[in-house]
Amino acid sequence: MQNNVKKVVVAGGGTAGWVAAAALAKRLQDQIELVLVESEEIGTVGVGESTIPPVALFHNLLGIDEQEFMRATDATFKLGISFEHWGLQGDRYMHPFGTTGRGSFLADFQHYYLHGQRLGIEAPFGDYCYELQAALAHKFGKSSQGGLSYAYHLDAGRYARFLRQFSEALGAKRIESNIQQVEQHPNGDISALVLADGQRIDGDLFIDCTGFRALLIEQTLKTGFERWDHWLPCNKAVVVQTESAATLPPYTRAMAHQAGWQWRIPLQSRVGNGLVYAADFLSDEQARQQLLGNLETAPLMEPRVLSYTTGRRKKFWHRNCVALGLSSGFIEPLESTSIYLFMNGVIRLLRLFPFAGVTDALADEYNQQSIRELEKIRDFIILHYHQTERSDSEFWNYCRTMPIPDSLAHRIELFRDSALAFQTGDEMFRLESWTHVMLGQRLQPRSYHQLVASVPAAEMNAHLQQIRSSISQAVERLPSHQEFIRQYCPSG
Ligand code: FAD
Repeated sequence: MQNNVKKVVVAGGGTAGWVAAAALAKRLQDQIELVLVESEEIGTVGVGESTIPPVALFHNLLGIDEQEFMRATDATFKLGISFEHWGLQGDRYMHPFGTTGRGSFLADFQHYYLHGQRLGIEAPFGDYCYELQAALAHKFGKSSQGGLSYAYHLDAGRYARFLRQFSEALGAKRIESNIQQVEQHPNGDISALVLADGQRIDGDLFIDCTGFRALLIEQTLKTGFERWDHWLPCNKAVVVQTESAATLPPYTRAMAHQAGWQWRIPLQSRVGNGLVYAADFLSDEQARQQLLGNLETAPLMEPRVLSYTTGRRKKFWHRNCVALGLSSGFIEPLESTSIYLFMNGVIRLLRLFPFAGVTDALADEYNQQSIRELEKIRDFIILHYHQTERSDSEFWNYCRTMPIPDSLAHRIELFRDSALAFQTGDEMFRLESWTHVMLGQRLQPRSYHQLVASVPAAEMNAHLQQIRSSISQAVERLPSHQEFIRQYCPSG
């Protein structure tokens, strides 16, 4: 069969551009010519340091060596996110990776946990999760027999450079220039990018990775945008890097404040910090002061402010253009999903690659899959804001009382009434993720599965006790995260 897409042009070289280039170069090396255009003058957004576990799978797909990648990007391991002050000020819960407890075919573990509570077993839900206990103890280890489920904290700028080297070694061609014009065929498809130096880069398929500018998918193809800011009102972030801290926790911190939240992300040689806020409820100067007043170590730069609109492009694949990264839309970084989303986007593109030429059916399939995935992530993020008992500010009063998508209302109702949580096939966040966040945000179920209630107390006690003690013994044996990093992948 003939390949009709012989040349792919990636516009933009932020994390999204280089992730796309790396995957296309690795997997279609012999099939396509690959060109990436980026402009140092315009630069990249330069944030995006916390990830989720599928990143490791993406690296496996590309054959990227973990130690080399971690050394190059100043990376540390991440076992979850510590949510602080979300349900009420003073609250803390972890959303860990990995599994929690052991349920049965008919009833998931939260039913056992709730029955244990009814029987007077006080241990928190997190005591049944290996990753969560290792995170709290600042420990980490790897084992060939399926050890901890983990992701990374990484330096976004260094990561883009690492992937650039990787892609160029596989034949991707990089052009440094400013795209000044996007040309179209008479039928509306994109034909070429015209650069500041007069070069004309033609192609068969174009990947828009130009960040919030969305130069191809929106400025040229006018694809349209669906806003979600009525559900997710935060629209700004002030960010600053600080010196490294004395300890190296293997988790991201997400600390809620009166009009948003603040992140703290430990890398090997520095800490990434940012304060996410809703401009309707907090001024830039208030946000800046608040961030600077809540840093663990000294700043290495002047704080800078970024603005965004939450929502998604109406189509991610339109005509012969696929948008990846910020050009395709943005959901705030509360659950660190952006990098994952464009990694999965490029994998989806590889699966549906238009070898026989771009068709509406391919684009529709790509768009439907992407929208299904994104809307579930959106609901998961809204849950953190809406499911709160905070009433100490206008912002939290708004979030607590705002109308929410029906799909999320359904999940909350199921959990509240019957402790039921679920995960559909195309969903990134697992049943346990939903359960940790719902319980952590003070959503206490009214009842649970009655099959579990019939388990005798002594048997239930022994079952729960056995899980907790095998986890604490395993955590005991792990080295500290700091020590593990020092041996495994020091960034130097
Ligand atoms: P950019 O980094 O903006 O890159 C755009 C590229 O396009 C640049 O190379 C630029 O030079 C080029 N370009 C644009 N216009 C032109 C032109 N005319 N000519 C030539 N080149 C051009 N994600 C996570 O997964 N985890 C996180 O913890 C996380 N935190 C975030 C925090 C904040 C506040 C924000 C805003 C985002 C965060 N993200 C996070 C998202 C993450 O930063 C982005 O998804 C990621 O960096 C990808 O950005 P990008 O490559 O799409 O865009």
